[in-house]
Amino acid sequence: MTESAVQSEPLHHRILATVKQMWGFERLRPLQEEAIRAGLDHRDSLIVLPTGGGKSLCYQVPPLLANRLDVVISPLIALMKDQVDGLRQCGYPAQALHSGMHGDEARNAERDIARGAVRLAFVTPERIVTERFLRLLQDLKVRAFAIDEAHCISHWGHDFRPEYRQLVVLKERFPTASLHAYTATATPRVQQDIVDQLRLTKPAVLIGTFDRPNLIYRVVPRVDVYDQTLQVIRRHQGQAAIVYCISRRDTEDLASWLTDNCIRAAHYHAGMEPDDRRRTQDAFAEEKLDVIVATVAFGMGIDRSDVRCVLHAGMPKSLEHYQQETGRAGRDGLEAECVLFYSAADDQKWRMLIKKSAEAAADPEQVSLAANELLRHMKRYCNSPICRHKLLSEYFGQPYDRTLCGACDVCLEEAEIAPESTVIARKILSCVARVDQRFGVTHVVDVLLGGNTDMIRRWQHDKLSTYGLLKELDRKNLTNLVYQLIDQNLLERTADEHPILRLNAASWEVLRGRQEVKLLQPRTKAVRKTRVEAESWEGVDAGLFESLRGLRRELAEKQHVPAFIIFGDATLRELARVRPSTLDVFARVHGVGQRKLADYGTCFVEHIAAYCTQQGLTTNQSPNTAARSAPEPQVPRPRPLTAARRAAFALFADGASIEKVMTTLGRARSTTTRYLVEYIQRERPPSVAPWVDSATYHVVQHAAQRLGTTPLRPIFDALDGQVPFDTIRLVTRHLETVSTGPLQTPSPAHARQ
Ligand code: ADP
Ligand code: ZN
Repeated sequence: MTESAVQSEPLHHRILATVKQMWGFERLRPLQEEAIRAGLDHRDSLIVLPTGGGKSLCYQVPPLLANRLDVVISPLIALMKDQVDGLRQCGYPAQALHSGMHGDEARNAERDIARGAVRLAFVTPERIVTERFLRLLQDLKVRAFAIDEAHCISHWGHDFRPEYRQLVVLKERFPTASLHAYTATATPRVQQDIVDQLRLTKPAVLIGTFDRPNLIYRVVPRVDVYDQTLQVIRRHQGQAAIVYCISRRDTEDLASWLTDNCIRAAHYHAGMEPDDRRRTQDAFAEEKLDVIVATVAFGMGIDRSDVRCVLHAGMPKSLEHYQQETGRAGRDGLEAECVLFYSAADDQKWRMLIKKSAEAAADPEQVSLAANELLRHMKRYCNSPICRHKLLSEYFGQPYDRTLCGACDVCLEEAEIAPESTVIARKILSCVARVDQRFGVTHVVDVLLGGNTDMIRRWQHDKLSTYGLLKELDRKNLTNLVYQLIDQNLLERTADEHPILRLNAASWEVLRGRQEVKLLQPRTKAVRKTRVEAESWEGVDAGLFESLRGLRRELAEKQHVPAFIIFGDATLRELARVRPSTLDVFARVHGVGQRKLADYGTCFVEHIAAYCTQQGLTTNQSPNTAARSAPEPQVPRPRPLTAARRAAFALFADGASIEKVMTTLGRARSTTTRYLVEYIQRERPPSVAPWVDSATYHVVQHAAQRLGTTPLRPIFDALDGQVPFDTIRLVTRHLETVSTGPLQTPSPAHARQ
């Protein structure tokens, strides 16, 4: 196609073609095209897309299409480096300029920019406002700036950075340039602040959907955080996971417990030496670590897109935090699990902390009011039986109209109610009454368990009728149940330094048998696979997927880049599903752009071919269309191969007879013949000579040309019942594979030999 022909194509197609060529993506995500158009039209814009929504692509495409240099302002050097590395892997000319570069490096980068060899320059806010740099950009006539993490400009955001305030100079110095602000924070107040601070004029405001359908949310009563964490992490063996704890101490303890249990884990918090932190982050990015156990300090600089699990060992203090932290799961669009271990004890802990920090603030009342309000919503998320997707969406101001999300514990009905909940509640409450409402949780639990402590002896509480009344429960479980009663306002806990348990009006309703109680117990059932998980693994050979991850790791290590930069998990899964044996088929896989095809095509195709031969796997399958959002022309999807089928296919590929396969696998003739038919349909062998002699083949072929390949009965009859049905089936299915489908009418053209 000539240059001018490309230019005259509608913009939509040009954008798509570029995205396919550079990144190997088939289609755009919601609002990407609108955002790209704003960039091309030099219209100011504010783009709010959730984490993983694909913001970067929106500012990467316009300068490429318009052949110009755009500037991206980004707050973190680590984030910037990863982005530039990632872009270069795709063959995209990008440069970063930051204080971490030494003299030569920075000079070279500037020279590249000055000679017009760069489409995107990434700069920190401190750097861009230096006079020298502003002048360079003016000389280069830069006309578009993207401001990443734009919420950092607002006091109301959760991550205010004073240096962002200086960006106001952009509109003064570049009056004809457009500014494009990007953020994942949604509150209307922060949005308005961004528009005001940057002086955006009539901006296009694009706000994405906050729901992340690929995330599976679960809230589980916290009983034994160590065992429970281990259980969840084991569900994600060998995959990337982040565990968030409230305190630094907890991160260290939990990480070493996981390590003791053969999990590749490490802790991360702001109290560590910067070098140690960097090393831990790098190890995680290079896939040398699977699990990071961290405080909220971990996140901003981490760009690994294949995090399959985000676990909260304790409740965060706001849904904003929760959304942001869980947002780090499944950024590649594949399924990921977000589990929160909840105990009302967390609520108490946060309230204490809020009280303390409010005391130190200039406006204590206002501070604690706002913080407690955020906490209230967080707690509501934890203990209301409302679809988690719905609650989160609505909290961020968006309606959610699906009745069952299929991807949260509420909709999956996973919560288990403790049998005899009301009886247990009554026993707990009457124990509180028996100790005269003068003791805390620990003592009440001790009495109910029939313990032998100093306190019990001193107060003679072993004489009480409630002593040992719940001794069949274990301590952790019982403690959690007491907290659940507090949470449901069926029991009070005073807010002073030595909190004690008190009964309220609702407690008496329960004690008098006028109110039923529902208490949750930790799940005993194994967690079922959700629809989201089942779909994204459909047809994928898990062994090949793991093997490709290994190959990716090797390549990444050689080039000193994070593994996910080579290919994301979504692409590896698709490769393990399609199993391309040629570069042509490889090129069509999601996430393979031209540059990566050239760099890695041969290496991956050879690896896949070797694996498939060894395992007897079929190659060049149709891609998975169901797992992606937009409808595509439906290609019948092959069923995933069972082990038996795989074995049978391998034998057939060696030309083994039906009898041989029957005895080797111990399967009946009918089953074996069915496998052979499937083998022919999937593998399209050039000939079926090992199973049908050529004379019979020709007879059936002639009949099929006259009568069509379905149904089989007319062929059987035409051959006077001389050829068995099974043989007719083998020949006709083979004829279909050498043509394009069933032969409906006699047509010699299909009878290729
Ligand atoms: P954000 O900055 O909004 O959190 P990113 O820009 O990092 O998100 O994109 C998240 C992931 O989605 C990246 O792996 C990116 O390559 C991928 N991605 C972006 N746009 C598309 C698209 N149109 N199709 C497929 N994948 C995409
Ligand atoms: Zn739900």
